[in-house]
Amino acid sequence: MEDRSIKEKNCKEIQALIPRYLSGTLTLHEARYFTKHLKRCRDCREEIEISYLLDKGLERVENGESVDLHADLEEMLNGTEEAITHLLQYRTAVYLIEFTAVFVLIACVLILYLF
Ligand SMILES: [Zn+2]
Repeated sequence: MEDRSIKEKNCKEIQALIPRYLSGTLTLHEARYFTKHLKRCRDCREEIEISYLLDKGLERVENGESVDLHADLEEMLNGTEEAITHLLQYRTAVYLIEFTAVFVLIACVLILYLF
């Protein structure tokens, strides 16, 4: 019972993010939370399938392209996950470089101060 109400609350939050996901304007944190939830929630998946169909699917049908809704969505979610992983790796690398730079700077100051 408790789990159910927590799930519904999460689903509302997730479903509110759908338009921004489709327009590519979620923050990294939101996108991570979003894809993680969608991977395991059928209700939200159905919601996004409808939105996706209305947003992108119709456009593609008009252009004469075939639409495999399920496969397209799966591909898009996997693409998002991959992009998030790359971004996080990139951010970790930047932090490491910054940390090293600060460390070298402190070492230089100490050496100047001590000698
Ligand atoms: Zn959900």
